[in-house]
Amino acid sequence: MGQRYLVLGDHHGDTESLRRVRDDIEDETFDFVVHVGDLTDAMRAGRETAVRQLDEVEPVLAEIAAHARHDLVWVWGNRDHFGDFDADLGVGTEVPSNGCVTVGGQRFTNDLDAVASDVVLVTHMETWRLLDQFEGRAHFCGNTHLGRLKGRRLNSAFLQYTHRETGEQSFGGYFVVDVTDEPPFDVEMREVGTLDRFDCPDHGERGVQYHSAFDDCVYCAEPDILMREMAASAFYGLTNDTERERVRDEELVSYAVELWDDPPTGFGSAFAAYVDSVTEDRYAPLDRTDDGLLRVAEKSYAY
Ligand SMILES: [Zn+2]
Ligand SMILES: [Zn+2]
Repeated sequence: MGQRYLVLGDHHGDTESLRRVRDDIEDETFDFVVHVGDLTDAMRAGRETAVRQLDEVEPVLAEIAAHARHDLVWVWGNRDHFGDFDADLGVGTEVPSNGCVTVGGQRFTNDLDAVASDVVLVTHMETWRLLDQFEGRAHFCGNTHLGRLKGRRLNSAFLQYTHRETGEQSFGGYFVVDVTDEPPFDVEMREVGTLDRFDCPDHGERGVQYHSAFDDCVYCAEPDILMREMAASAFYGLTNDTERERVRDEELVSYAVELWDDPPTGFGSAFAAYVDSVTEDRYAPLDRTDDGLLRVAEKSYAY
């Protein structure tokens, strides 16, 4: 049996985008509403302003949650300092970072160790390592503001962000997803501003993209984004369910190449070059041990 999800997030304290969603879904009912975090902009606006933002966001979110047969489930984002400020959201159910919560007969978790075939994972960060190996029912995330559907994973792009220099606002969109036992899921992108769909002929295996940040495929525009996720995913593939915590460059490169049915031209050599200088990428998921092996970086952005 399929379940109908409304998935949204990353509005960063803005209520206008939430009102647009509310007006858009007037007569509709969903099984669940999922919010992937960044309810506020505590990180930039400060914790005190974020408390006020949360106050303003809450009633609109409650109106949206009223369209859920079961409930709204949500997580904090990095811009919310992951909830580390003096307020709480009084609507919906927070998805726990330890174990699962059951809502309307469906189990949800924010805990990677609690993922099981019938569990829906909700994280703010992308968790690159799970891109090619995910054993849950569905995974919803956000953070990058770059939407993507790949297998059971949907990154819901963004609802609203404000450009730091100009103060100009960008409005994006949200998604309606029918989660079924077997992907592909039926996914509908809905704009509250501008969100474009991209199907890259070179990088289509990495998913369908929805964003407004570049004029084209994210990976064509910013190859390091691809390299990071391939590095994390290949490392995880080599070490998951093993005792290993270190791998050699050659192993990582051949594993990453094998993750493709048809790798883009030059991928193997470009990836090998990235791995060779991985310590120079501040967002890299991996770094090097003293003896030159690869391991998970202590401060990996989104491993
Ligand atoms: Zn965000
Ligand atoms: Zn591309």
